[in-house]
Amino acid sequence: MTNQEIIEFDRQHIWHPYTSAIDPLPCYLVKQAQGVHLELEDGRKLIDGMSSWWAAIHGYNHPVLNRALAEQSQRMSHVMFGGLTHEPAVTLAQKLIAMAPGQPQWVFFSDSGSVAVEVAIKMAIQYQYANNRPQKNKIATLRKGYHGDTWHAMSVCDPDTGMHHIFSTQLPAQVFTDAPSVGFYETWHADAMNHLEETLAAHHHQIAALILEPIVQGAGGMRIYHPEYLKGAAQLCKQYDILLIADEIATGFGRTGKLFACEYAEVAPDILCLGKAITGGTMSFAATLCTSQVAETISRHHPGVFMHGPTFMGNPLACAVANASIDLLLQSDWHSQVHRIEQTMMREMAPLREHPVVHDVRILGAIGVVEMKQPVEMAKLQKRFVGAGVWIRPFGKLVYIMPPYVISDDELVALINGLKKGIE
Ligand code: PMP
Repeated sequence: MTNQEIIEFDRQHIWHPYTSAIDPLPCYLVKQAQGVHLELEDGRKLIDGMSSWWAAIHGYNHPVLNRALAEQSQRMSHVMFGGLTHEPAVTLAQKLIAMAPGQPQWVFFSDSGSVAVEVAIKMAIQYQYANNRPQKNKIATLRKGYHGDTWHAMSVCDPDTGMHHIFSTQLPAQVFTDAPSVGFYETWHADAMNHLEETLAAHHHQIAALILEPIVQGAGGMRIYHPEYLKGAAQLCKQYDILLIADEIATGFGRTGKLFACEYAEVAPDILCLGKAITGGTMSFAATLCTSQVAETISRHHPGVFMHGPTFMGNPLACAVANASIDLLLQSDWHSQVHRIEQTMMREMAPLREHPVVHDVRILGAIGVVEMKQPVEMAKLQKRFVGAGVWIRPFGKLVYIMPPYVISDDELVALINGLKKGIE
């Protein structure tokens, strides 16, 4: 097939994320990816600003991750997890338990972030059921949040920005509260907890859990909020006997400048969702961790088991590459790398705040967000970014970068210059 034939078939037969079958956004044909570069079939090399949606934290085609995958594939690529176990899964569970915020003791492996969220919600509801409080079966959540594309994950996405509003009549009705109003760097004031407090006070008898993205709300608005809000939310959950589900699928593994964003508020969630960077962007994989209290309560009561068990649960290839990715992260100076990225973005990107088309610039760790005053024309802007030698995928009013941690300062400056060229 020629490159043109590949693109044409793709255009006519393959769904891409949030894309039309009649008038799809253009797709660029990628040949290979190496380090922080994506190489297109036509030879153009783009500096990657997306880490393939938060995942490829070590850059692409990393020899350590490739080796882990190749070696594991020589032993077994997959075996069912019902009645069988294996060393890569046990090692990964040990690592996650040791590094995760709070004291999670139980790990449920699944295939993707959305499934990890479904599992977390099922755990919370089954926990309350086992505690003889079946009426506590709704999930509270924050506006401007995003938790995935499957059914219950959609139900806790922002009803407007969460991209799922056309399903709203069919989704379970959850309990929404205002998005956190105080930004990460703004002065905290206690009134900012009022709406959550009122919401939980009014509805706690029917709420199983509060789910939130700690500190950084991702795809629902790329908002970065004050750690005191997270602290306050955790306290309110305790007060009203509501489980706290921290969705760290995007924020986990160092992206915000802490290994996990919960650490900014020293919060210990009852249930924690991890995904994306867990395998360094190599394969789809996720984990839902919970405390002993949650796991044992679920298991002590009828039906006495947690009711979930996907076919590819605990996939050995994914576990092996996740183990290699976590070792690589913890053995690296990731903290300095992320801090350096943050400093460079503060210097090179923050001044865009003064630009007439820009509404706001928000930066934390290795995340840089430019919120425009008007929604962008995605295809046009994407083309301009590619022309400028960078890979940045905007949506709505948001143009944002979260590069691999291994990006050099020169590459990052070139990425930010490409971003500026695109929006100017
Ligand atoms: N939670 C959060 C915070 C996310 O950002 C995402 C993905 N954008 C998900 C859940 C869903 O993950 P996945 O796309 O792997 O299903």
